[in-house]
Order: sequence, then structure tokens, then C-alpha cells
Amino acid sequence: MSDNETTINELKQAIKKFRDDRDWQKYHTPKNLAESISIEAAELLEKFQWKSEEEIDELLNDPTYKSEVKEELADVFNYCLALSIALDIDLSEALLEKVKLNSEKYPVEKSKGEYKKYSKL
Ligand SMILES: [Mg+2]
Repeated sequence: MSDNETTINELKQAIKKFRDDRDWQKYHTPKNLAESISIEAAELLEKFQWKSEEEIDELLNDPTYKSEVKEELADVFNYCLALSIALDIDLSEALLEKVKLNSEKYPVEKSKGEYKKYSKL
């Protein structure tokens, strides 16, 4: 399986099956899942804490380190998908709407090569 072969719906179905096989739906409340996204995002951030960009580049050549980063990223994504299930949010629609909104907030002619917030462009 890869990103090129797997749909968001297939990922959601895998998460639902994992959840339902364990009777964990009762724990998948919006609050718990939003907290879990933040907790897992912090675990991902911890992989980079205190390291310079150069150190991180070097570490990413280490398969063990890269695998740990991959696992934390998957944890974040898993809970994002679980929250979208709990809230019945179509993530593809939500993401594409957000890209469109961001495109309007950050027009290419004003923001290309600039990291300034849209209100400062
Ligand atoms: Mg984790």
C-alpha cells in the first residue's frame, strides 16, 4: 500500500475496523481525539527538539530515527482521521477548501518566497 494506491476512505475504514474490533468507539469522543492529535503532535515535535537543521538532516539518514519520526507522523494522521470520522467531516473536501482559502490569503504575487503572515503582506 502507498499514497498512490490508497484512498482516504480506505484509511478511514481501517481505523474504524481497528476501533470497533476493540469496542473503543466510546473513547473516540471529539475532545479525546483532539487532545490525542495535540499529544501526538508534541511527540513528533520532540523528535526535533533542541536539534539544529543540520543535526536533523544528519539524523534523518539514520533509518531508526526516520522510522520513529514516521511513527509519530502516522499517530498524528491516525487521530486526524479518527476525529474526522467522529465529526463526520469529509477531510478531502475540508483540506481542498483550506488550500483554496490559503491561496486567496496568500496570493502568489504577494507571498512567493515570503513567510510573512497574510495580514502583513
Ligand atoms: Mg506517538
